Amino acid sequence: MIDIRTTSIEFLKGVGPARAQLLRQELDIGTYEDLLLYFPFRYVDCSKVSAVSEITQECPYVVLRGLIDNVNVVQTGKYTERLSARFHDATGSVELVWFQGVKWVKDRLKPNVEYQVMGKPSNYGLMVQLVHPDVEPVSYDAPSHSFMPIYNTTEKLKAKGLNPKGIAKLVDTMLRQVQGMIPENLPFEVIGRYRLVSRERALHDIHFPADSVSQQAASMRLKFEELFFLQLDFQYGRTARQRYSEGRIFAEVGEKFNRFYSEKLPFPLTGAQKRVVREIRNDMRSGRQMNRLLQGDVGSGKTLVALLTMLLAVDNGFQACLMAPTEILASQHYQNFLRMLDGLGLQVALLTGSVKGAQRKKIKEGLLSGEINLLIGTHALIEDEVKFNALGYVVIDEQHRFGVQQRAKLWAKSDVPPHVLVMTATPIPRTLSMTLYGDLDCSVIDELPPGRQPIKTIHATDAKRLVVFDFMKKQIALGRQVYVVYPLINESDSLDLKDLMDGYESISRDFPIPQYQVSIVHGQMDAETKAYEMDRFKRGETHIMVSTTVIEVGVDVPNATVMVIENAERFGLSQLHQLRGRVGRGGGQSYCILMTKEKLSSNARERINTMVATCDGFQIAEADLRLRGPGDIEGVQQSGILNLHIADIVTDEPLVRATRDTVRNLLDADPDLQKPENRMLRYHIETLKNKPRWGKIS
Ligand code: ADP
Ligand code: MG
Repeated sequence: MIDIRTTSIEFLKGVGPARAQLLRQELDIGTYEDLLLYFPFRYVDCSKVSAVSEITQECPYVVLRGLIDNVNVVQTGKYTERLSARFHDATGSVELVWFQGVKWVKDRLKPNVEYQVMGKPSNYGLMVQLVHPDVEPVSYDAPSHSFMPIYNTTEKLKAKGLNPKGIAKLVDTMLRQVQGMIPENLPFEVIGRYRLVSRERALHDIHFPADSVSQQAASMRLKFEELFFLQLDFQYGRTARQRYSEGRIFAEVGEKFNRFYSEKLPFPLTGAQKRVVREIRNDMRSGRQMNRLLQGDVGSGKTLVALLTMLLAVDNGFQACLMAPTEILASQHYQNFLRMLDGLGLQVALLTGSVKGAQRKKIKEGLLSGEINLLIGTHALIEDEVKFNALGYVVIDEQHRFGVQQRAKLWAKSDVPPHVLVMTATPIPRTLSMTLYGDLDCSVIDELPPGRQPIKTIHATDAKRLVVFDFMKKQIALGRQVYVVYPLINESDSLDLKDLMDGYESISRDFPIPQYQVSIVHGQMDAETKAYEMDRFKRGETHIMVSTTVIEVGVDVPNATVMVIENAERFGLSQLHQLRGRVGRGGGQSYCILMTKEKLSSNARERINTMVATCDGFQIAEADLRLRGPGDIEGVQQSGILNLHIADIVTDEPLVRATRDTVRNLLDADPDLQKPENRMLRYHIETLKNKPRWGKIS
């Protein structure tokens, strides 16, 4: 019996130490299982032989049968040569070309032998040719797989005989050797219900399917399996945590909450805000630690939800903190809190990297003594030296900027972990949140405060700049304010910074003082200057705020009604949406102007068109996922769903759903996975949990 998980690939017949090392180095294939899970990226149907006259460079891999003549070697450089040969069948001829292994190939090409040639047609001038095709004599009796797997490989591997065909041969050898030794890992009931093929069958057929039907059955089974275990990891983690992680019980709705609610609430809560506050409150008195994700589009009023629920913590004798991704945001929250909580007798403090010396010392003492009730800050507040008297609740604003490790650090600040609310304004497409946040409970604010008019979004090319400036002047004359944002992909990129400075100069020329006041904020300014400029803009002392994306998240200036985004084609959809959310915050009809150059790539054009067409964050998130794939969506990096090997979170949505429900039902019925039929799942959780399940990232 061979354990395919642990047996080194070196022991497979036809591998040996040298190739084993190369396989590990080039493709990260170290064990039998790694090779089994190295799936072909496509198949060629060898039963479909094409005629030379039909092929064009648009064809995928083609299979041809015919004769080879005119074999020629040309010296192309001191050490380089080129082998060409003419291949022909009854319909025409095509050139075959090799740049490597010239001698070896040449010796094998014989006249008057019928060859089967496979390759990808490409253009060479006006001619079509096949470069490095696979050539072998036609044999009518050898049993050959009519669906040929094609594997990705590398130049180094090819040099050692491991071209796609060489890899196929290794897989074939292995499959024969391990026949009957690949155990099933899904419960039989699940296999039966979804009519899945067995694991062994699937792993065979994914490499060597008899036809496209068996290939699809294999692929579906393997995708299902992969998503199933992803869900199992997430959901088991969640149920275990819910059952075993003790949480503070906030039984009371006390004086502070009630007084704030009846005396200080600046406006009635929306239905969605009320619902979410209730959901959080229920978690907080359940006796289990809360881990909740709050999704709400920009401007939906998440801050107020944070504040109200933080008061619940205070009423129950605990401290609460709010962590924001930038100093600007932290200090904005701080000022809002001070204003809204005025007269309630609460101690609120602000802790950021720029709070130093005596002030910092005082805050740290206040936290330790319990005198400070509410702390607002940046990641400075997760530093080890910051200690609380009784931290009961942590709110993390705009979560994607904080990593998992940083969150864990916060948890360690209290013997019983605090309740955690993660707020994000980046709506997450449903398929993603089902997987990505399978381990978090979710609340959604799906309603904007009343009276918001949809933002008008306009696409303008650089040629229209003067018209845009005119429009800005009209708005300013109405008493409104304007943002002009430049992309700054890399904080240290001096070219980007130059763009910004040039823009600032040209705006200062067209909007001269004293009639107009222009602010500028960017990442290379110190925190104090930034805060000063932000404040001036907030107080309405400046009309235009020229900035980089530092204002992207959270900044709240209701009187700003125009958002001009320069080089909009360089921003991703979710960023554009975030930026647009800075306007339309209550100051009347708002506008977002997307400035781009004349010529756009089709992807950029679709992004711009999507922005013009809709303001709905969820629709934008779906479009974003479609255009970029999950790899670029924030938060995905840490999730492990990028390591998916065969399943695709976007196109396999039905399977994501099916596996999520299956795992949920299974854990409802058997939360500890104690039933005999779930034995292999228990095994997975216990032994494999911390290892990457698939040997590599494809
Ligand atoms: P975000 O969810 O993007 O963090 P904010 O919490 O910054 O949104 O709220 C956006 C704006 O909406 C703020 O000016 C806030 O005062 C206002 N707001 C919040 N809730 C309500 C409400 N229920 N009714 C009216 N305005 C509200
Ligand atoms: Mg916010």
